[in-house]
Amino acid sequence: MTTNKYLPGITRDELKTIIKELGEPSYRANQIAEHIYRHRVTDPDKMSNLPQNLRGKLKELFFPFPVAVEECIAAGDQTQKLLLKLHDGNQIEMVMIPTAERMTFCLSTQAGCPVGCRFCASGAAGLARNLSAAEILAELFAGAEIHGSWPDNIVFMGIGEGLLNTGNLFHALEIITGHDYIGMSPRRITVSTSGIVPGIYKLAELGKEFTLALSLHAVNDEIRSSIIPDKLRYPIAEILQAADFYRNTAGRMVTFEYTLLAGVNDSPQDAETLARLANKHHAKINLIAYNPTSDKFKRPTDKVIEQFLHKAESICRNVTLRRERGGGKKAACGQLRLGKIQNDGNLS
Ligand code: SF4
Repeated sequence: MTTNKYLPGITRDELKTIIKELGEPSYRANQIAEHIYRHRVTDPDKMSNLPQNLRGKLKELFFPFPVAVEECIAAGDQTQKLLLKLHDGNQIEMVMIPTAERMTFCLSTQAGCPVGCRFCASGAAGLARNLSAAEILAELFAGAEIHGSWPDNIVFMGIGEGLLNTGNLFHALEIITGHDYIGMSPRRITVSTSGIVPGIYKLAELGKEFTLALSLHAVNDEIRSSIIPDKLRYPIAEILQAADFYRNTAGRMVTFEYTLLAGVNDSPQDAETLARLANKHHAKINLIAYNPTSDKFKRPTDKVIEQFLHKAESICRNVTLRRERGGGKKAACGQLRLGKIQNDGNLS
């Protein structure tokens, strides 16, 4: 007999049902949940207050931990990037980003990405598949094992478009924020999207104060169409309407993520339009200087980046420039996995 489930992501109700079917006392369900969500223990062998036979049954009933750390790349600034292998051979990444005050984990939601933004390594090989809630949570557990505790913040900005995998992402979010589970404040969690309009409305319906990071990257549909392929690209007007709905429902300012690409979206006029859009929609702007993953796009010069920043700041007071973390070789989103695929000759 098997439950066809993993322990990361299991709910207390599911555990109660399983424990009852095993004929064990009901408090065992709580003990197991405490091991997983309070002490980050997912290996039944390490659940020391359970009798040996129950530990054995759990090992038979549940799949083994769903990810294996294949590679851990440390950048000079103490950022660590983990390449994780899934049970079917697919690979994903998670990144651990420390600052003096806090630790942030950046998690993936899909193996590959169907959106295919032209500047992004993650989308280059297309979508392999959605991650299950257990796999998303396993990234968190794998990072916490290395860090020694849960992170202070989580950003879903790794590989994939999370709002195209809402069922699994939302289950993972329930476990991460639930008081009976990991219990993190939704305010410490950022969900990023390339602008999947139905997904933004679904996220708003959860009624939680997650931060929504909207990867706008362009101030009009014409420029945006040169960056993001048509199939999953929504009109900017619809995206901004959904963002307004999100802000009004969740009570959180939305962040416009804007990757600066030389000669594409980095003119002073773009800076002005972006800043005015942010003011109109009560949004913050986060500028990201492109970290080249292909020769299709170039990073603007430092001078152009500074000029863009100053122009935007002269109009909008909520503008930041994201400094590169985990810079250097294979550090941009998706590059570690893509490099592996290319090395293995499996790039489709
Ligand atoms: S930027 Fe995000 S949405 Fe676009 S291809 Fe990369 S992972 Fe997908």
